[in-house]
Amino acid sequence: MAPRELIAFVGASASVRRNEAKKENKALAIGTREDIMLDKAPNGKVSDFLSAFDKALSAGEIEHAVDLFQADCYWRDLVTFTWNIKTMEGKDEVRDMLKARLADARPSNWKIADGEDASEADGITESWIQFETEVARGFGHMRLKDGRIWTLLTTMSELKGHEEPVGFDRPMGAKHGAERNRKTWKEERDAEAAELGYSRQPYCVIIGGGQGGIALGARLRQLNVPTIIIEKNESPGDSWRKRYKSLCLHDPVWYDHLPYLPFPRNWPVFSPKDKIGDWLEMYTKVMELNYWGSSECKKASYDEQSREWTIIVQRDSQEIVLKPKQLVLATGMSAKPNLPKFEGMDIFKGDQHHSSQHPGPDKYRNKKAVVIGSNNSAHDICAALWEAGADVTMVQRSTTHVVKSDSLMELGLASLYSEQAVQSGMTTAKADLIFASLPYKILHEFQIPVYNAIRERDADYYKRLEKAGFLLDYGDDDSGLFMKYLRRGSGYYIDVGASELVANGSIKLKSGVDVKKLTEHSVVLSDGTELPADLIVYATGYGSMNGFAADLISREVADKVGKVWGLGSNTTKDPGPWEGEQRNMWKPTQQQGLWFHGGNLHQSRHYSQFLSLQLKARMEGIPTPVYGLQKVHHLG
Ligand SMILES: Cc1cc2nc3c(=O)[nH]c(=O)nc-3n(C[C@H](O)[C@H](O)[C@H](O)COP(=O)(O)OP(=O)(O)OC[C@H]3O[C@@H](n4cnc5c(N)ncnc54)[C@H](O)[C@@H]3O)c2cc1C
Repeated sequence: MAPRELIAFVGASASVRRNEAKKENKALAIGTREDIMLDKAPNGKVSDFLSAFDKALSAGEIEHAVDLFQADCYWRDLVTFTWNIKTMEGKDEVRDMLKARLADARPSNWKIADGEDASEADGITESWIQFETEVARGFGHMRLKDGRIWTLLTTMSELKGHEEPVGFDRPMGAKHGAERNRKTWKEERDAEAAELGYSRQPYCVIIGGGQGGIALGARLRQLNVPTIIIEKNESPGDSWRKRYKSLCLHDPVWYDHLPYLPFPRNWPVFSPKDKIGDWLEMYTKVMELNYWGSSECKKASYDEQSREWTIIVQRDSQEIVLKPKQLVLATGMSAKPNLPKFEGMDIFKGDQHHSSQHPGPDKYRNKKAVVIGSNNSAHDICAALWEAGADVTMVQRSTTHVVKSDSLMELGLASLYSEQAVQSGMTTAKADLIFASLPYKILHEFQIPVYNAIRERDADYYKRLEKAGFLLDYGDDDSGLFMKYLRRGSGYYIDVGASELVANGSIKLKSGVDVKKLTEHSVVLSDGTELPADLIVYATGYGSMNGFAADLISREVADKVGKVWGLGSNTTKDPGPWEGEQRNMWKPTQQQGLWFHGGNLHQSRHYSQFLSLQLKARMEGIPTPVYGLQKVHHLG
């Protein structure tokens, strides 16, 4: 990728930051590496640099290798060195990691990735790179500043000897020749379905067959890891189908592809929920996943001796016991409803439910609806109720970040995930890796200018919302939506139309207030206002995924693994200390054999690759010493 595109993506501050960092590092640019960065074309510079890096690492010269990093450097490793998802920040952390892992990892063959060229702009030389370790092939991305590494991303592409059967290695399908009693593909699939989980145990069980479980299941299938996906809904896609009827994806199609099978070119920009449901159902079938619908995991326990799970599953009317080695909870980041407790909920005579249970607006025409909350679901539900002719009031307790969908697409995502990006040769895989190459520690610095630009562009719009009484924020440090998502997974609305209804008063608004109590027919607010109500929707968000571990395994295990999600940014709902990566997601947890998977479609697609490789390595008995297993600072 050209640096220009990166700058468009990360915002104008990139070059500012680089210049500042350049000044900072000039003083540090002493020592041995300037000689390899003399006036050469970018390819020459990067090749020379990589060969010096390779040489230092191969010789086990850790100090020499560390000297090739800037003082303010970041090395983000997705599984290749650390068997973890981990960012080393600064030279000391790089040194510590290399001391622990270099001898085992035995990296080699660092070079510019096949078919790629390095590029240079604003004092940054960057390149796609490839390398190997003792057990894997890796792909990555590197940015050099003043001849040293500023950011390095190393990711595992495949395990040697366990490559996916693609391209030249794709399965034959047909068996040419003649053979008595041969089985057809269908007979083999039916036999597998009949046997797996009954006479043969899966290596891995994924609980939750939403898009997360499905994407991971597809990766594991390609890696030949026997896996069953347990889903309490009847069919794949139902977790989308069952949401409120007006829902369309908030993210655009270019961001949403599943692994292996991108959406066709005529797929709508924003998928309606039932359409994405159908796609997931089709995908599950064609990717040949062992998907147990109408099956609920009731209980799971881990035997530390045999290193095996015992999982009790209710499948239709039958109780089945599964004994996998690995258990993945893909039960949804937005799936464990936070239902508030208000005085009077037991006496309220109308309908009341969490947003996840909201059936849609049809039966509320001419009724009075009160929606508690002011984030995505609250806005979508309010707008749909208004469209259906209900009298709707939104109750906003605290500030919300609102960003217009088109502004977000044009200023926030376009350089990586858009039709223009596709036209200019950007692939989904590269876009994901560029995204991944930006260290979380400094990501907010790149996001702030993007949201400043959005605020400027949409200034009138924000003024109108404020005039209507809506309480706005742009994130604790003005870094906007994406950082809020990574830090707390809540607190925003991507505006696809409801804000206009708030601004013009069609959706009534009570802001800066809380619910005091419910009466039989109304909601009483903390400022004394009484809102008559036939319907109350609690659009009050979702709890941490380790709540599922508490329900299915035990409180003890849930506390042992701790909070899921967030970075430790010490901003609202993301308490410190700084953790550097999302807590517990896609990587080893404090509970052996227990993993969490999920996130939006982009994360699910991207990180399922690294989780599947971690599971495959364990199945094959490849040593996987985890470096920097996260500590637990928060219980949930
Ligand atoms: C209103 C709304 C809008 C959203 N819009 C977007 C968007 O535009 N783009 C995007 O990427 N994301 C969006 N999200 C986030 C969305 O929740 C996730 O992207 C997606 O649902 C995550 O998929 P998942 O597979 O991780 O979880 P889910 O889809 O929640 O799937 C989890 C599954 O686990 C099952 N399950 C739970 N417990 C058990 C058990 N004990 N036994 C068996 N099965 C169990 C559930 O039935 C469920 O099907 C939105 C979320 C909401 C609520």
